[in-house]
Amino acid sequence: MQRQLYSEEHELFRETVRAFMRREVLPRQRAWNEAGMVDRETWRQAGEAGLVCPWLEPEWGGPGGDFLHSAIVMEELSRVYESGFALALHSDIVVPYIHRFGDDQQRRRWLPGCASGELITAIAMTEPGTGSDLAAIKTTARRDGDDYVLTGAKTFISNGMLCDLVVVAAKTGEDPDPHKNISLLVVEAKSEGFVRGKKLEKMGMASQDTSELSFEDCRVPATNLLGVEGSGFMQLMTKLQQERLCVAIGAQAASEQVLVDTIAYTKERHAFGKPISKFQNTSFKLVECATKVEIGRAFLDKVIAEHVAGKNLVKECSMAKYWLTDTSQQIIDDCLQFFGGYGYMLEYPVTRAFMDSRVQRIYAGTNEIMKIIIAKQMGL
Ligand SMILES: Cc1cc2nc3c(=O)[nH]c(=O)nc-3n(C[C@H](O)[C@H](O)[C@H](O)COP(=O)(O)OP(=O)(O)OC[C@H]3O[C@@H](n4cnc5c(N)ncnc54)[C@H](O)[C@@H]3O)c2cc1C
Repeated sequence: MQRQLYSEEHELFRETVRAFMRREVLPRQRAWNEAGMVDRETWRQAGEAGLVCPWLEPEWGGPGGDFLHSAIVMEELSRVYESGFALALHSDIVVPYIHRFGDDQQRRRWLPGCASGELITAIAMTEPGTGSDLAAIKTTARRDGDDYVLTGAKTFISNGMLCDLVVVAAKTGEDPDPHKNISLLVVEAKSEGFVRGKKLEKMGMASQDTSELSFEDCRVPATNLLGVEGSGFMQLMTKLQQERLCVAIGAQAASEQVLVDTIAYTKERHAFGKPISKFQNTSFKLVECATKVEIGRAFLDKVIAEHVAGKNLVKECSMAKYWLTDTSQQIIDDCLQFFGGYGYMLEYPVTRAFMDSRVQRIYAGTNEIMKIIIAKQMGL
């Protein structure tokens, strides 16, 4: 189906992004996968090309686009099977906290570097003892003069090794309502007491650095607090919608690309004297995948359009995240089967897509948590 979401200008931007992927990403993917992280130079090049924080206003150093430009970057990363270059995490998940909840001084200090790719960001909510139950975090930030003293451990932090700035969720109070105790602090990686732990070995997303972080009496200037003390939980609730949407966008684009590549493969690969696409089982399965892709795309583009229009879409973003990531995994699994033994070989993109897709049902709020949110929104 013809997509209605993007203007001509957006499609021109897509060409720039595709050229960037061909020139700067594809030749480096093997090295990134081996290193377990993306190099900083490519972040800077992406900044120069306008791919980092494409929505950010020029007054803060951004190119002045919108979330649709970001969506294009996410789609094109999925198109080249690049799951570890965490542009969306930085541009569309972490930087918006500084942009939305920071004061002008904080914005001036950090946003231009965030847009140029000089400053890479991360967000640290999850701890070894708690992920889904955010209000139960143990990391504390105790006020001491003009500083907070941050103590605690975080885990599974994307961009953990590369990051220069981390938005950290920490407890700053002892209110009986735990939701009122959380604050967001921007921690600079050069701060004393900020310790990067080990880089974690994962099933997929080979080029994404995911690490443990710890804060050992780490002194953070009180001027690094985002908004007012105790408002962290609300700030996260406001912005997690977009995080879920980003995951849905990546999942849908991955399903589409895997389907295109699988159809091509089944037309080339022969068995019993004919292309495997000519077996009825193959065509029926691919028809089922294509139908899921079309339905997913129709729903997702509607959600993206309404999100860009500023609507509050807690239910729809959660639905998109849960359904499209579940569906993407089914589609990629079905497609992988047609590659036979090659579908188990790491050199085949479909194999990597299969491994990469699994985590999408887990992070950004598990799909079970999505269902809890949807049920609440439905008054259940
Ligand atoms: C590759 C990767 C990257 C990540 N990046 C980041 C990052 O950058 N920053 C960050 O802060 N975190 C990050 N995470 C953490 C991720 O968001 C958490 O793993 C996720 O939220 C789940 O938390 P948990 O692992 O503690 O699981 P738990 O919360 O312990 O959940 C375990 C299981 O119990 C289920 N469950 C929990 N509560 C309920 C309930 N009420 N009802 C029904 N079922 C329930 C869950 O759905 C899940 O199946 C990342 C994780 C991974 C794997």
